[in-house]
Amino acid sequence: MQNATQNPAPRQRPLPPVSGTCRWPQPVGYDPDPPDVGMVEINGRRYTLGVAANYFLLLAVEPDRQGKKGCYHLPRDLSSCECGDHVFRADRREDGRCKHQKSLAKLLVDGIRRMVREAA
Ligand SMILES: [Zn+2]
Repeated sequence: MQNATQNPAPRQRPLPPVSGTCRWPQPVGYDPDPPDVGMVEINGRRYTLGVAANYFLLLAVEPDRQGKKGCYHLPRDLSSCECGDHVFRADRREDGRCKHQKSLAKLLVDGIRRMVREAA
């Protein structure tokens, strides 16, 4: 006979925090038009980074294996992300953060990297 209360295992296993690499292949403003766009690389994948007043926009440069180009808005405080990993699995991670949140936090630790232009 089964006893439903005997094995109170969590419905979903916890997941380890995400890890990986990130860098700035291009600073924000590398192309003067539009000026608030840079490029970041997260785990070898490149994203166009748009910097708006209230949010960041990450847009995958190349489609993934399913042929989708990820496009995610993150608030400036990086408290959330629109990706499936964050939406569906954040509560299974101790830090509750996806690779986009963690990578941007790391890349932005010294502020937004911007192209420095000489005055004409
Ligand atoms: Zn994300």
